[in-house]
Amino acid sequence: MTRAVFFDLGKVLLNFDWEAVCKGAGTCCDANPVRMIRWIATSPHISDYESGRLTSHQFYEHARVALGFRGRFEEFAELWSDIFTEIPETVALVRLLKGRVPIALLSNTNEMHIDWVMARWDFMRLFDDMVLSFREQCAKPEAEIYRRALAKLAVKPAEAFFVDDRPENVAGALAVGMDAVPFTDAAALRSALVSRGVLPQG
Ligand SMILES: [Mg+2]
Repeated sequence: MTRAVFFDLGKVLLNFDWEAVCKGAGTCCDANPVRMIRWIATSPHISDYESGRLTSHQFYEHARVALGFRGRFEEFAELWSDIFTEIPETVALVRLLKGRVPIALLSNTNEMHIDWVMARWDFMRLFDDMVLSFREQCAKPEAEIYRRALAKLAVKPAEAFFVDDRPENVAGALAVGMDAVPFTDAAALRSALVSRGVLPQG
C-alpha cells in the first residue's frame, strides 16, 4: 500500500533550460555559449555543489574563474537560476495529492536553485518534507539519499512511490525496494497514482 509519494523536481515539476544561462550571460562573461554549456555539462564543481561539498560562494568562485564572469555573486545566482518553467499538469497532481497522502520532494539540486524556486512557486510549500542532495550531502542514485527520504516520512520502502525522469534515479529507488516509475508525462503519472489508490479514478 502506498503511504507516501516522492517527486523529483527537474523535468517532472519544473522544466529547465541551461541555454537560458548562456542567453542571459550577455556581456558579463568572457566564455562564449559553447564553452559555457560545455562547462555546465562537464564541470565536477556542479556535482560537488549539488552534493554539498561546495558552498554557494565557493561554487560561484569556481564558475567566475572558469567562465570569466564579471558580475557580483547575486548577479551570478540570478543568471544561474533563471532557467526554470513550470510543468503545470504535474504541479496539478501535487495539489490533488496534498492532504491525501504525505508528499515530499527528492531532488538533486543546489542552494541557489532551491532559493530561487522557493521564492517563485508556491506549490513548493505543499510538500511535507524536502530531501535535497546539497543538504543531505549525498545524491540520487546513491542508496543513502533514498533511505533518508524514507526515514523522513517514516515509511517502509514498499510503501513509498517515487517518480523521476532519469532512469538511473528510478533504478536507485527500485534497488532499495521503493515503488518507482520513470516520468513520461502527467497523464501516465496520474494513472500510476490512481492504480496505487492514492488518487481517485476519473
Ligand atoms: Mg529530474
